[in-house]
Amino acid sequence: MSKFTLEMNRYFSATVGAYSLVTDREATGDKSVTLDRYEKEVIFSAYHPDSFERRGGAESTGYDSHKEFIFHDRNHIRSKIKLAIVYPKKTGQELRLYFSKPTGFDPQAGEYWYIFRDGDDVPHIGVMDSFVWENIFQSKSYDPFLFKSQQNFDDEDDSYQKEVGAAIAGLPISTSNLKYRRSSTVAKNALKAANYLCEAEPSHVTFSTAAGLNYQECHHLIPVSLQNHFEAGLDVEENIAVLCATCHRFLHYGRGEEKFELLTKLWLAKKDGLDRRQIKISFKELLSIYTGNGLL
Ligand SMILES: [Zn+2]
Ligand SMILES: [Zn+2]
Repeated sequence: MSKFTLEMNRYFSATVGAYSLVTDREATGDKSVTLDRYEKEVIFSAYHPDSFERRGGAESTGYDSHKEFIFHDRNHIRSKIKLAIVYPKKTGQELRLYFSKPTGFDPQAGEYWYIFRDGDDVPHIGVMDSFVWENIFQSKSYDPFLFKSQQNFDDEDDSYQKEVGAAIAGLPISTSNLKYRRSSTVAKNALKAANYLCEAEPSHVTFSTAAGLNYQECHHLIPVSLQNHFEAGLDVEENIAVLCATCHRFLHYGRGEEKFELLTKLWLAKKDGLDRRQIKISFKELLSIYTGNGLL
């Protein structure tokens, strides 16, 4: 439907690309899309227009009806896949690309699918949640490439981690003298609910604590230091992201623009829970906190 903008080229490190919003009919009926001229331009830069199989009673061209792609799933994980892409009619230039559940390329109505080239011979193809797409590319007032250096929004984090660590290891907890008190019971519940796995990437195994559990840390997605801006309490399980120590430090001390992906992931995982707790915040406001711009 549209060509990649400069911003999209930059985001994907692409030389050329195109994207479309998937319609209900494409997702549930046809399970395929007809490529428009921009999408064809991208695919033809990798595969010659004559190298596609023709159907509709045409004589076989002898070419494989499946072409190779580097697929980007909703979590930005890549894999090499093959997708059917053919001229469905005996004559004419209509080119159809078929969705395929087993490969992962199975976009739903309202999601974006995209195709692009970079230095690789194989073209890239992907699916993205429309919410994430629109926040990356269509938000006027927000540019993910303009993260400021981050302020320290939680200068009591170390003391809090000590308390949580002691609590999960079954060690005595020294009496808290934190400005913003946080319950270690709430932290323990959050850890348990996350099954002691890092919410950025569950494969991040650390070490077993004295209590025999995979060590993880608790991070308040909306910093408790902002409590006076919220009516609902922020020290609740729903506002706690369970992260391995590396991912946690990254969120505090990493480069702003590199945090966007993790924040998107955590937001998608937490937003329903925050909503249930009447913690009112938009994704844009959350990003604003992490970009060092404070609450809008
Ligand atoms: Zn933290
Ligand atoms: Zn991690």
